[in-house]
Amino acid sequence: MQKRRIVIVEGSAAGPKAAAKARRIDNSAEVVILQKEADLSMASCGYPYYVGGYFDDRNMLLCTPTGVTRNPLFYLNAKDIEAKVNSEVTAIDRKGHTVSFRNTVTGDAGEMAYDKLIIATGSVPRMPPVPGVGLDGITTLQSMKDADFLRKVRDEGKIKKAVVVGGGLIGIETCEALQLAGVEITVIELLPQLLMILDWELAKLASRIM
Ligand SMILES: Cc1cc2nc3c(=O)[nH]c(=O)nc-3n(C[C@H](O)[C@H](O)[C@H](O)COP(=O)(O)OP(=O)(O)OC[C@H]3O[C@@H](n4cnc5c(N)ncnc54)[C@H](O)[C@@H]3O)c2cc1C
Repeated sequence: MQKRRIVIVEGSAAGPKAAAKARRIDNSAEVVILQKEADLSMASCGYPYYVGGYFDDRNMLLCTPTGVTRNPLFYLNAKDIEAKVNSEVTAIDRKGHTVSFRNTVTGDAGEMAYDKLIIATGSVPRMPPVPGVGLDGITTLQSMKDADFLRKVRDEGKIKKAVVVGGGLIGIETCEALQLAGVEITVIELLPQLLMILDWELAKLASRIM
């Protein structure tokens, strides 16, 4: 009998979790992750700390507590899951039960049949609809690519001033990281207080400390 194939689109946090669960539920299925980026299971929460220089080893964002990098080989050996990186899903044919994907490095296209498809493609930061958002030197902090860019900024030490647009959790963590990197920062927030998740008294206290 042909093996059931479960295909999961994305390999950051939710996708690998879904893949591991699928493997536990169905030991005989073929489980495949298609991940657009080059990395898998990135510890996004650690990006600000890497950017700020709390630690220097980029691999710490990608490894297990025992120091094993969560790369395709790890997924194959430890979990019997095939993880394809640099593989962006470009189309889904629900009737035909196939996904099309494109290798983001070589441009090669591929197609894969599935029995079950799980889409867990996360989110993208909402860029303000203002002119100039695409200019060089403007970045979000959402991906390894962003973290690498900001870490380079830190290491080169050429940038002395930065503006952080958005005073939510990630904005404030980014301020802290850049401040550690010796950059002078202004944070701009649309709402009447920073850290809107807090009561105003606490937010006031945080603002005063900042
Ligand atoms: C700087 C920062 C700090 C954070 N700190 C914390 C924290 O302290 N505590 C906390 O709980 N959470 C924190 N978070 C949030 C947490 O990281 C996210 O909730 C989590 O990453 C969401 O995981 P996800 O798998 O749903 O999506 P994402 O991490 O957004 O991953 C989506 C993935 O899908 C891939 N993808 C998209 N489209 C395709 C496609 N067509 N084909 C293939 N792949 C595709 C992308 O390349 C990406 O890798 C933080 C996030 C950031 C950015």
